[in-house]
Amino acid sequence: MAAKKTAGKSSAKKTSPKSSKAKSQSAKVAKSASKAIAIPHGEIHIGKDIWPMERDVLIRPDRMKYVRKLIKSEGCVFCTASKGGISFETLCVYQTKHAMVVLNKFPYNSGHVLVLPRRHCGDLLALSDAEHMDVQNTIRLTMKGLKEIYEPGGFNVGLNHGSVAGAGIPEHLHYHIIPRWSGDLNFFPLIAETKVLVESLEQTYEKILGYFKKI
Ligand SMILES: [Zn+2]
Repeated sequence: MAAKKTAGKSSAKKTSPKSSKAKSQSAKVAKSASKAIAIPHGEIHIGKDIWPMERDVLIRPDRMKYVRKLIKSEGCVFCTASKGGISFETLCVYQTKHAMVVLNKFPYNSGHVLVLPRRHCGDLLALSDAEHMDVQNTIRLTMKGLKEIYEPGGFNVGLNHGSVAGAGIPEHLHYHIIPRWSGDLNFFPLIAETKVLVESLEQTYEKILGYFKKI
């Protein structure tokens, strides 16, 4: 503690030309950092930091837009999943005429899936009745499956509508369905924003695919 204090004092005593140089250097760093990843929270490392950011999908959805920039790929990933059919590559486990179920690549909890219309549409009000009903029915069907597989105590079921509301991919609607267990939210923020999953994405995919195969 004492050493830190001394260091802080000595840096405060630096002359103004030096501090202006330091300022321009930090501005350069900030500029290059913002070029790489446009986020206001400092540098983010996929794998190390992406978890806590994704965790905030429903709690602090405003942060999602920054995370999504890291995993943005060519074209719409959901349309790719819709056209690509059911496969681990697209993480799609189920498709109906108008709806589909895709695993979240960076899940908050095991069994975190997305239910969405197959058509590229970012406005819930622009869905046809048939599309809307198909999506809603698929949400319930998915919850039923997750209940059977994971026996969670509850769910977060939510839609971030529009980029200002935190939608990572606002052009293509997607509902998050997150199984919840008692104490999971209370516990994890206390351990330095680290999240431990009890199963791999592959295992989750197999389990959920198995459920939908029976339908
Ligand atoms: Zn799309």
